[in-house]
Amino acid sequence: MHKITLPSEEIPRKWYNITPDLPVEMPAPKNSEEGGNLENLPKLFSKGVLEQEMSQDRWIKIPKEVRKVYKMIGRPSPLFRAKRLEEMLDTPAKIYYKREDYSPTGSHKLNTAIAQAYYAKKDGAERLCTETGAGQWGTALSLACSMLDMDCTVYMVRISFNQKPFRKTIMQLYGGEVIPSPSDQTTFGKKMLKEDPNHPGSLGIAISEAVEDALNNENAYYSLGSVLNHVLLHQSVIGLETQKQLNIAGETPDVMVGCVGGGSNFAGAIAPFIKEHIDGKINCKFLAAEPESCPTLTQGKYAYDFGDTAGMTPLLKMYTLGHDFVPSSVHAGGLRYHGMAPQLSLLVNQGIVEGRAINQKDTFQSGVDFAKAEGVVPAPETTHALKVAMDEARECKKTGEEKTIVVSFSGHGMLDLKGYDDFLNGKIV
Ligand SMILES: *Cc1c(COP(=O)(O)O)cnc(C)c1O
Repeated sequence: MHKITLPSEEIPRKWYNITPDLPVEMPAPKNSEEGGNLENLPKLFSKGVLEQEMSQDRWIKIPKEVRKVYKMIGRPSPLFRAKRLEEMLDTPAKIYYKREDYSPTGSHKLNTAIAQAYYAKKDGAERLCTETGAGQWGTALSLACSMLDMDCTVYMVRISFNQKPFRKTIMQLYGGEVIPSPSDQTTFGKKMLKEDPNHPGSLGIAISEAVEDALNNENAYYSLGSVLNHVLLHQSVIGLETQKQLNIAGETPDVMVGCVGGGSNFAGAIAPFIKEHIDGKINCKFLAAEPESCPTLTQGKYAYDFGDTAGMTPLLKMYTLGHDFVPSSVHAGGLRYHGMAPQLSLLVNQGIVEGRAINQKDTFQSGVDFAKAEGVVPAPETTHALKVAMDEARECKKTGEEKTIVVSFSGHGMLDLKGYDDFLNGKIV
């Protein structure tokens, strides 16, 4: 089967929360003496998502309003088999990819944006503030806010703002207000600009600005596009649908691959399979692909650290390169984050998920190969996962194993053609 679809009635009715099924207990977030304070959380997040953040319930009902919007944006997303890619690699492996690029904003991020806007509105908020790196998250939240009649303010990492002017255009056409970060709108942004007027920005800095904005404004909540438990919870729709689709195809996964920035698309895609793996029902390898220039899982420490640069968030136990780490400006802007989701970090620390660091040139080559074979231009983030999946498939060619490889195809790259252009012109070394 080349394309496996599900009817809209098959949109999951419940999100799957991995917390109670983790092999060891999640280390709790901590207050820090320097600033990050758990008491601030209710000023930052709606009751709905805070409850989910702490929840020990395995299944959490998806409100019918949220399911309705999931339907409007075209969920369930299809699962494709990459037949031509398999032929090109001359591999006995079967490669499937779960197409989150099908969403109107081109990535998985709407899955949580819609839920977060819904709970914020239910709690009386009129506006959401957030940061965006590559622009995918800001785009998703702008559209989600527009669909739920809310305002949206997006602090966009300056380097991406300059590299990707059309991202700004999309956010604006959905009604979002876009501010390059560091900006002169917040105390922290002003401080950064004073140190370096040409500061390229980073996700950590943009988070600090959005948090400051939400803390200082009663009618606004802050919204995070990755890392936190509730975000991974919302992304479990990817894995739950994939489970049904693989069932239809009569497959069980041997290898699951995804790219990781904060870890949400990959964690969402694998969550139900992790449970099956721990229960001994499947025997699967889980591979998290990250850029060599921001090697959180492969070079970072498993320690308590801040989620942002200014140290305004509570401390989270996660793999981290240090909250003041500023990665070089790789094209995969969505993977430039110093930390990693605590749930995914725990799975890596327990040896269930494995990190793989990938060179930027190799990722673009994989993106080009994939586009030629399958026709879909992958996001530069997604190409990291493809590189790892293609390496696994090449390995199968050597060993003759007919493994089933499943890729979380997090998004398309039609707005990231600058990176591909640089690659094709030999400017990426
Ligand atoms: C944001 C983004 C990522 C990285 O975020 P995660 O939370 O790790 O999923 C990956 N791929 C695409 C296309 C993105 O937009």
